[in-house]
Amino acid sequence: KLFNEVQEAKGNIRVFCRCRPLNKVETSARCSTVVDFDAAKDGCLGILTNGSTKKSFRFDRVYTPKDDQVDVFADASSMAISVLDGYNVCIFAYGQTGTGKTFTMEGTEQNRGVNYRTLELLFKISKERSETFEYDISVSVLEVYNEQIRDLLATGPTSKRLEIKQASEGSHHVPGVVEAKVDNISEVWNVLQAGSNARAVGSNNINEHSSRSHCMLCIMVRTKNLMNGECTKSKLWLVDLAGSERLARTDVQGDRLKEAQNINRSLSALGDVISALAAKSSHIPYRNSKLTHLLQDSLGGDSKTLMFVQISPSDQDVGETLSSLNFATRVR
Ligand code: ADP
Ligand code: MG
Repeated sequence: KLFNEVQEAKGNIRVFCRCRPLNKVETSARCSTVVDFDAAKDGCLGILTNGSTKKSFRFDRVYTPKDDQVDVFADASSMAISVLDGYNVCIFAYGQTGTGKTFTMEGTEQNRGVNYRTLELLFKISKERSETFEYDISVSVLEVYNEQIRDLLATGPTSKRLEIKQASEGSHHVPGVVEAKVDNISEVWNVLQAGSNARAVGSNNINEHSSRSHCMLCIMVRTKNLMNGECTKSKLWLVDLAGSERLARTDVQGDRLKEAQNINRSLSALGDVISALAAKSSHIPYRNSKLTHLLQDSLGGDSKTLMFVQISPSDQDVGETLSSLNFATRVR
């Protein structure tokens, strides 16, 4: 309740910045850290651009490489669980490939991320409220690659082309998509892993493919208020975006060029939509990409939006880091 009040006072868009640790390769190559976390507690972060110049950024939260999955979820959870109160919510991870987008959202078996922790908490709360509310929770996992939507929970031939339709009441949906009903947390990790594993099917380089596609988990909650019989539907999207890095123009041709253009188009469409919302603009350009079109009901209105901007601490990545931080500043 208190959170919602604060939320309304500040608007519905939050940006959290998370920096991963230097990895082994970087450490042995003696890369230095360009990120200054002295004021991280206040949401501030500095980037040393050429030795002495420092560029400062401010976000709603800044996570240092020492912060773990529990710390991150502690702040993200209130936004995520508001889906149980009838809000539509979108949580994104944005950033260069290798900065921890998948780590934050999906996590690993030992270090589970926002997706799993959200479902775990949704089940816990729905149990606590079971005398007054009946919740029905199901999940879909979609991939958007080259402006085409693929159902990652579909079994059998995956050639089916999925399209976005607008239902009469103005809500958007994808006819034919698998909605897996999940009744308890023990099933969830496997369902999420099935989706994640399907991302690689049909591609000869798993990592390359996943860095060029958006992986979108949709949690649909149908709520019945047992006191007055009222039924509502709300959606929570958890999105692991394609890598935001720009490919060097000279070595990109053919299919790679088309891929790169589609990624640019959808990420900039997302930036345009969120900044139009932040500016309370009268026209919100949802239709410019499949990504924003899919998310239309959950971006804007009284929906809540949280973006994780993921960065690398390494001096070698400083250009991409600045570009990600600038993107995130623009949407805030
Ligand atoms: P992305 O999805 O952005 O390409 P990944 O999530 O795959 O990046 O992260 C790249 C590597 O760094 C993975 O091995 C991941 O486990 C590790 N990593 C990312 N963020 C963290 C973190 N905060 N703490 C520890 N390891 C991390
Ligand atoms: Mg990834």
